[in-house]
Amino acid sequence: MADLPDSPDVFLSESEVLDLVMRFLVGHGLSREQAAPVASSLAKAQKDGCRSHGLQRLPGVLDTIAHPRFDKRAEPELKDVTDAVAQVDARFGFSLPAVERGLPSLVAKAKALGISMLAINNGFHFTALWPVVEEIAGHGLAALSMNPSHGWVAPFGGGKGILGTNPMAFAWPRKNQLPYVFDFATSAAARADIALYKQQGKPLPEGWGLDADGRPSTDPTAVLAGAMLPFGGHKGSALATMIELMSSAMIGDRSSRQSQAFDAGAKAAPCHGELIVAFNPALLAGGSVTDDSEALLDEIARQGARLPGSRRYRERQASEKQGIRVPGLLYSRILALMPD
Ligand code: NDP
Repeated sequence: MADLPDSPDVFLSESEVLDLVMRFLVGHGLSREQAAPVASSLAKAQKDGCRSHGLQRLPGVLDTIAHPRFDKRAEPELKDVTDAVAQVDARFGFSLPAVERGLPSLVAKAKALGISMLAINNGFHFTALWPVVEEIAGHGLAALSMNPSHGWVAPFGGGKGILGTNPMAFAWPRKNQLPYVFDFATSAAARADIALYKQQGKPLPEGWGLDADGRPSTDPTAVLAGAMLPFGGHKGSALATMIELMSSAMIGDRSSRQSQAFDAGAKAAPCHGELIVAFNPALLAGGSVTDDSEALLDEIARQGARLPGSRRYRERQASEKQGIRVPGLLYSRILALMPD
């Protein structure tokens, strides 16, 4: 969303952002238990300068909660499957309250056993993955998270969208430093970015998508009606397929194709599962992670290559000093949609 000259940015404290989102969500009928984890994720993303998954997403929540299957007061149900595996049924509320319900079990199991898995089922999912893996790394664990989305992405060499944009996030705990974290979709570009090119009347870079006949296209309208492409050719395609298998088939939940059919044109957030795996990195390393992991990450930074997560951490520091920046136009839009 472009800022208008007459809509100056607003700077809010973290508690003001949380309060804004809670008033919005609870005002639209969500229970506080459903609203609070979503508010926390959106506030973290806005604070870290991840504008695509911060407050920008709040107005779209209205389409999700209008989905006939969405339950505004869903109470996630935790099931201990084995010593190492837990599963939480989000019961057609948002995914994040279910993640919050399962996280203590995931962390405790990984600490005790070295590795644990948490499967989330039946959750409407629209948030970034990094806040959760970063939180797990705060317990001294490494973490991996992944989920399907809607079947917009064609496999490398194919012509029709069947894979999701399928994001994957990883976090590694560091000594006396914030964790190493990456989090990205396996599509060449985000769907929202393609929509932005369309809005601006600009052609897409090569390799982002195909038209409805499966031919390479740089026309954003044709690609939105056709298929997106995975990043990195056959490699991204295989990773997206792995994510599809591990976070839908393996946990007994909808694939990207099935979550799109479930949406039936409602334009809600995709409703599907999520897989989170936690590892105790000290287990096989003789009680503590070797110093070489720190040396490796330091050497990457020393070469001038930036560590994923470092931009966010800088933005976080800036937000702590000056407040969290919210584009004026977005702030006005949220207030206009705020229930009385
Ligand atoms: P990007 O392609 O922007 O990549 C983001 C990741 O790469 C971040 O970890 C970022 O670190 C790091 N990074 C970016 N540039 C560099 C660089 N030059 N050097 C080193 N590291 C770099 O992300 P996407 O657009 O693919 O995804 C954005 C978000 O969308 C993710 O948070 C993802 O979870 C979310 N998403 C969610 C979906 C869902 O189903 N809920 C579906 C698809 C995406 P930093 O953060 O520090 O910039």
